[in-house]
Amino acid sequence: MSGPNSDYDPVEVAALDPEVVESNVQAALAAIAAATTLEELKAARIAHAGDRSPLALANREIGALPPSARAEAGKRAGQARGRVSAALAERQAVLEAERDERILREEALDLTLPPGRRPLGHRHPLTVTAERMADVMVGMGWEIAEGPEVEAEWFNFDALNFDLDHPARQMQDTFFVEPADAGLVLRTHTSPVQARALLERGAPLYVAVPGKTFRTDELDATHTPVFHQVEGLAVDEGLTMAHLKGTLDRLAEELFGKGLTTRLRPAFFPFTEPSAEMDLVCFVCRGEDPGCRTCGGTGWIEWGGCGMVNQNVLRACGIDPARYQGFAFGMGVERSLMFRNGIADMREMIEGDVRFNSQFGREI
Ligand SMILES: [Zn+2]
Repeated sequence: MSGPNSDYDPVEVAALDPEVVESNVQAALAAIAAATTLEELKAARIAHAGDRSPLALANREIGALPPSARAEAGKRAGQARGRVSAALAERQAVLEAERDERILREEALDLTLPPGRRPLGHRHPLTVTAERMADVMVGMGWEIAEGPEVEAEWFNFDALNFDLDHPARQMQDTFFVEPADAGLVLRTHTSPVQARALLERGAPLYVAVPGKTFRTDELDATHTPVFHQVEGLAVDEGLTMAHLKGTLDRLAEELFGKGLTTRLRPAFFPFTEPSAEMDLVCFVCRGEDPGCRTCGGTGWIEWGGCGMVNQNVLRACGIDPARYQGFAFGMGVERSLMFRNGIADMREMIEGDVRFNSQFGREI
């Protein structure tokens, strides 16, 4: 067992020699100054201020000194360790500041960069317009009905009181489906769904039919071989032309805004009697500009055909015309979209330009 060495000669305790201590301190300060990262500084701390460092080992030797020498040696060792600790703390602060600054620089987000998100698509304006028209009808308590686009000639013509020699049956208006004796056509209007709905559901009946129709028209600014209609059919007791006009006025108001004047103009369709064309007051000039190109100076724009359901149609569908009356209308969706959005050329609707869709395919 070793005890205090009363014969101790401080000269022999090399670790506490002032020059040795000073050289250890200088070595520590040099290593600390040379550390360029926090990891290197940590290594320097272990080597020069850790439990196994020369200064720590020297500190342990103090207890072995004679009491007279301890104070001075202790002061020297303490000051040496204090200088190293201060240098470590100072270097630590510098390196941490450098690290924080580097992280801020390297991980900075440029919030002004445009996002990489793809632009949102839009539904076709015709789809949106047809759905809006159907929505108005549903809001009035009507149901939605659908029918086939390849239709039996009987539903497209015969059930709707078209005589066999009616010009609409001719090849110049109708797409016939081969073979010629199949009795199938691409429906020329949505009205065949009237007959289908009456046969399937009976009276009373309130149905709206949005759908695609086909005629052998050349494509130009106001005609297209494929177009869309929203058909309406009401069959009930006591219906009159007043109900028809009230319904269409409401539809026009919902689509084009309040205060739009409408009028019924006599017309002829095989499946309605009496028949009428529904006109809207010109949305551009309101009937006040004789030179208006939109309405040709007439002040009115044709919107669609309508009328009281011909009794022959009711009979063909098994409805008693002595008890029930009906009214029907077929409004063009293309035409409604033209009025609603001021589109002058129908060809823009079918060219598939996404800019057209994004401009008009959004409803608020
Ligand atoms: Zn006009």
